[in-house]
Amino acid sequence: MIVNKGKIVVIGTSNVGSAVLNKLADFQLASEIALIDINADKAKGEALDSSHATSCIYSTNIDIHCGTYEDCKDAGIIIITAGPSIRPGETPDRLRLANTNAKIMHSVMSEIVKYTKEAMIIMITNPLDVATYYVSTAFDYPREKIIGTGTLLETFRFRRILADKYCVDPKNIHGYVLGEHGNSAFPAWSTVDIAGLGLDNLDEYFHHAEKLDRKAVEDEIVKVAYDVINLKGFTNTGIAMAACRFVKSILYDEHTILPCSAVLNGEYGIKSVALSIPRMICSSGIVRSFEIYLTDKELELLQQSAKSVRSALDGCK
Ligand code: NAD
Repeated sequence: MIVNKGKIVVIGTSNVGSAVLNKLADFQLASEIALIDINADKAKGEALDSSHATSCIYSTNIDIHCGTYEDCKDAGIIIITAGPSIRPGETPDRLRLANTNAKIMHSVMSEIVKYTKEAMIIMITNPLDVATYYVSTAFDYPREKIIGTGTLLETFRFRRILADKYCVDPKNIHGYVLGEHGNSAFPAWSTVDIAGLGLDNLDEYFHHAEKLDRKAVEDEIVKVAYDVINLKGFTNTGIAMAACRFVKSILYDEHTILPCSAVLNGEYGIKSVALSIPRMICSSGIVRSFEIYLTDKELELLQQSAKSVRSALDGCK
């Protein structure tokens, strides 16, 4: 089967899937988008609504339609958002979704592999690292083609938080959040740099009277996701942008280095778990993982993330 690189299948069309769909269309990142949901009416409705928008002068004439798993057979990219999320007021820990969403990942992946092992798979369903590990290890799918969005979203949040502190464009900020997409995610401070000004003297450069409180920033990166959920009911805009960043990297063969989740293969001495570290993404998926320098404290935090995800995997029935 010839792969249509411009064809994207989005599985799960609720808050996250619909946001992904609309960003893909707005950024003109696909020529065809097929939507799948166990609730077929939802997929149909989202497809209809978005397809109407393609008549506008600002839109590209993308073929947006409700699909079936057969659509995977020539798709370039499949984006998985199926499965419930944490709801407002619930225990703030994505890992407690593990059992429910592992079952859903099983049913979704069992269908996908009937039609393709060619498409790039972008994983969004939580708990992201558990889902990424399961999908990567249980189906004999080429591992380099499975990209968990991982801590790219926390990295966006981190950059926004620092940008607001120093009143600077977040795109001037470099630095990764690594580890689990969830409560044990941590900013690797040793990777942070604002426009070549480094990290240590930022308060002076930006005439910031109050010294940067790293612990408060670390807590905020994790807490802010639950703030969004409690305030608006779900998160979808940031993650849709993160998914599009990966899609762009794949479509344009960019060789971009982004933090994302995949099964670790002995990096930092860790195996049998998926976590986010910086990885290079191009048209053939993940082509390199980088064991960047981390301080002893950061290494310890990465190990803690590995333990936390591993114990959720072990607890999965
Ligand atoms: P939601 O509960 O509103 O929607 C889930 C959708 O999945 C529903 O439309 C449902 O019908 C569908 N679905 C369930 N089982 C299915 C199956 N077997 N096949 C196909 N579709 C199925 O959830 P949401 O708010 O849209 O979030 C979706 C997922 O994305 C959640 O797991 C959430 O935690 C996750 N998420 C991840 C990130 C991230 O950074 N990785 C960010 C936000 C949300």
